[in-house]
Amino acid sequence: MPRAHDDNWDLASSVGATATMVAAGRAMVTNTPGGLIDDPFAEPLVRAVGVDFFTKMMDGKLDPETFENINPARVQAMIDGMGVRTKYFDEYFAQATDAGVRQVVILASGLDARAYRLPWPAGTVVYEIDQPQVIEFKTTTLDDLGATPTADRRTVAIDLRGDWPTALRAAGLDPTQPTAWLAEGLLIYLPPDAQDRLFDNIIALSVPGSTIATEFVPGIVDFDTDKVREMSGSFRDHGVDIDMASLVYSGERNHVVDYLRARGWDTDAVTRTELFERHNLTVPAPENNDPLGEIIFISARLTA
Ligand code: SAM
Repeated sequence: MPRAHDDNWDLASSVGATATMVAAGRAMVTNTPGGLIDDPFAEPLVRAVGVDFFTKMMDGKLDPETFENINPARVQAMIDGMGVRTKYFDEYFAQATDAGVRQVVILASGLDARAYRLPWPAGTVVYEIDQPQVIEFKTTTLDDLGATPTADRRTVAIDLRGDWPTALRAAGLDPTQPTAWLAEGLLIYLPPDAQDRLFDNIIALSVPGSTIATEFVPGIVDFDTDKVREMSGSFRDHGVDIDMASLVYSGERNHVVDYLRARGWDTDAVTRTELFERHNLTVPAPENNDPLGEIIFISARLTA
């Protein structure tokens, strides 16, 4: 189904299902001996969503005959990709809190369990923003599992295309204090102007010492719809409501690095290939790589 300016979803449908997909990836990294990350909440969260395809994927039970688009090399590339991505942002938060930041905002938090699994310093407040059904599901499921947040976790159930800054301030965000922001796996699901507005809003709420981490997908500009449809065909054929080709907003958009630098943020960027190499992982062959192409991980800091 094509996107609409006011569409909404749960964790089994549309953009929400992509949150379940990446959480399944985190579960698979966690279950890999020597894996880069440890997210003990990913697996029970994905099981609770109950999409058969993702549960089978996590359990290594996708039949290769039936899922011919999903060969082992592609699955490994996906697992390793989630490992380097999660590790990158975990380290980003460690650096931010080491530098003294005690206010964190996770935009589009999905099934991200960092508020429950990272060792936040005492006094850290972690805000999570996502659509209401997504927030509600994660909160309830983790409560039922007996999980306790490791920070003061505050949820803001709102669409990020709406007036989330007002809702975030109402939840307690103090814009006179530095904030560590994260927008992970979000930008491709926002139209280009909404991406700019997102960063404008973040910047308006940020004082020096604040940081932003995100990833940018240059391939979104000349996005190959046919290739993406071919690679994600297995999802639709097997009852999973993910048609990546219609979920993302392709075409021209501002490059995040340029956008932030032009607004005075010191910005570092690293490609996913570089992260694979940093962690001694095999760089996927082009045919098995993410259909969105090279992803750039970005962290930025406002110094003055
Ligand atoms: N950041 C999480 C992670 O990496 O595990 C989730 C990433 S998932 C690929 C995309 C997330 O973006 C979903 O949780 C979805 O609900 C959220 N999202 C996308 N567009 C949104 C919007 N307009 N408002 C609120 N949440 C949105």
